[in-house]
Amino acid sequence: MQLNALNNLAGSINTTEPMPLLFLGHGSPMNAIEENEFVTGWREAGKTIPRPNAILCISAHWETSGTFVTAMERPRTIHDFGGFPQKLFDVQYPAPGSPELAFNVKKIITQSEVGLDQKWGLDHGCWSVVKHLYPAADVPVIQMSLDYALTPQAHYDLAKELSVLRKKGVLIVGSGNLVHNLGRVAWDKLNEVGFAFDWATEANEKMKKFILNGDHQQLIDYKSLGKAFDLAIPTPEHYLPLLYVLALKEKHETVSIFNDKTVAGSLTMTSVKIGHSS
Ligand code: ZN
Repeated sequence: MQLNALNNLAGSINTTEPMPLLFLGHGSPMNAIEENEFVTGWREAGKTIPRPNAILCISAHWETSGTFVTAMERPRTIHDFGGFPQKLFDVQYPAPGSPELAFNVKKIITQSEVGLDQKWGLDHGCWSVVKHLYPAADVPVIQMSLDYALTPQAHYDLAKELSVLRKKGVLIVGSGNLVHNLGRVAWDKLNEVGFAFDWATEANEKMKKFILNGDHQQLIDYKSLGKAFDLAIPTPEHYLPLLYVLALKEKHETVSIFNDKTVAGSLTMTSVKIGHSS
């Protein structure tokens, strides 16, 4: 990162229009190395966004006790999965970190004590999507963890405190899946795009409606939305990154949905972009 960009991150001057926000449905780790419609969708969304000074990624795959941000200069590429071809394990995404941005996040979050992490790196929830947006790995990336102990409302409230970063050229990316139930995957239809269980379609359609209408409270209170939501969100980690992105939406901003497809019956790739397009 160039020195002036570093100063901009640390200083009080707002340097850009608010950066757009992305929630990306990441699906299978194989999307990191495949060419398919989802990868194309991420890439196209990336093209409409001004080049960021840095990226802050909230990935489904980093849950911790307390909230942490990666604060090392050189985050390692974490291959946090098993049973995939060697070529996926060979992928490296050597984007630099940004200790300065990590320190800033720690400073601006008042609701939780944010820890500076030196051990994690970039997990596949982050690098498998970000590598398609910035293949040259030349934009600094940090991750922020999901605190197990927080309620959905607390995650949403904490996320709101990140809003100042948008005006400093930081692209905030949530990476998860709106509907994500691995226990219900139709294994015989693993590579079938478009096959969806009824409950997955019902939850996905309702989520989209709430997202587009700005009805965030319903999405925060997802545990009271009935059977389809219980099946769509059996554990919260793939869903919560959505709340981080929605919390940062300003009232006037536009919302668009893309990659709105179901895979293997019980996973939706549905992705969301908030903010201006070029
Ligand atoms: Zn995942």
